Amino acid sequence: MTNRTFTMIKPDAVENGHIGGILEKITSAGFKIVAMKYTQLSTRDAQAFYAVHSERPFYGELVEFMSRGPIVAAILEKDNAVEDFRALIGATNPAEAAEGTIRKLFATNIAENAVHGSDSDENAAIEGAFHFSGREIY
Ligand code: GDP
Repeated sequence: MTNRTFTMIKPDAVENGHIGGILEKITSAGFKIVAMKYTQLSTRDAQAFYAVHSERPFYGELVEFMSRGPIVAAILEKDNAVEDFRALIGATNPAEAAEGTIRKLFATNIAENAVHGSDSDENAAIEGAFHFSGREIY
């Protein structure tokens, strides 16, 4: 699975009309979409997805934000996918993100930062499996 990563276009970016713009950046950067769905996380889904952050002070806010509206979830394929996608999305805080990155272009602030990108091959596999069954991956 070293050539795959998992992403979500978060509720802020969906609300602000950026699905098309973000997908264009992703595919132009050479990522192939191997699974994709438009869906909404329940509170329980968001709690489970972000369980690793449950001790952080912003966990409640993060769960509320990520479940407040629809998202686009996708599995992406490319050589060196995890690292290259983290470079494409930019720093967590859009104020610190490099020019041309997805978060610099489309994010609102450190909390509502437009996109998720897996931070390791292991998490990419776990997060992809959270959203997609084997027969939804092409
Ligand atoms: P990422 O790997 O760049 O997404 O960043 P982290 O793993 O550190 O944080 C996960 C997500 O939690 C971020 O993408 C933000 O949506 C959210 N987040 C991070 N820092 C803060 C914060 O200080 N306040 C709030 N409300 N949310 C945050």
